[in-house]
Amino acid sequence: MMMDGETTSGETQLHVTEVFHSLQGEGIRSGEPSVFIRLAGCPLRCRWCDTKYAWDFGGGTPYRVTELARQVERWSCRSVVITGGEPLVGADGAPRLGLVDLTRELAAAGRQVTIETSGLHFVPDLACDLMSISPKMSNSTPSQGDVAVRHEKARGDRKALARLIESYRCQLKFVIDSPDDLPEIRKLLGELPPVDDDRILLMPQATTREELLARAPIVTDLCLETGYRFGHRLHVLLWSDRRGV
Ligand code: SF4
Repeated sequence: MMMDGETTSGETQLHVTEVFHSLQGEGIRSGEPSVFIRLAGCPLRCRWCDTKYAWDFGGGTPYRVTELARQVERWSCRSVVITGGEPLVGADGAPRLGLVDLTRELAAAGRQVTIETSGLHFVPDLACDLMSISPKMSNSTPSQGDVAVRHEKARGDRKALARLIESYRCQLKFVIDSPDDLPEIRKLLGELPPVDDDRILLMPQATTREELLARAPIVTDLCLETGYRFGHRLHVLLWSDRRGV
């Protein structure tokens, strides 16, 4: 199976699940028209993942970095969101080859780059305007044995999270399943470099509009209690679980 990396001609290629134009649905830039590049592959397998179709590192279509940057030119909006899957790592768990080059090409073309990551690895030298980190908490752990063990080993690496926070302009987004999630989030934040409260967002765990609306009151109460921001999920509200929007 071909993975991300160098082609026989020496050019770097990235496996891409989809490229599409939509509104940024989450975080402090929510509502901004953006081009989304969804890279293929994620080792975490979160229980409530809403992009399971992007888990396979060999899935999607391989693009050379220059080809991918050209795809983005179809739309004129300034914001480009690189997401996944997990965009920071490749199948070998090391930094994903080609990602630094891709961010530099996009920045050189005047785009503002957001990277959506779980923060499981530190990658230096990215031309990234906003590192949008969603650390995975215990509410994301899958139930199956081996998968759960791998997930627990990979998630919540304090060193990687700290280096991302110190190296990039960042926001932290936490998925809330129930009010019981708060002590774990507070504990993690206490172990990381400080992040302003208005860059810490709590988001309802939801893959459909109905789930979003059902959990919104829980998250509202937690935000009022803590001073963190309510992180709504505009794409879920507008399109529920539709793909590519
Ligand atoms: S890190 Fe993101 S893409 Fe990967 S399994 Fe978890 S929610 Fe899905």
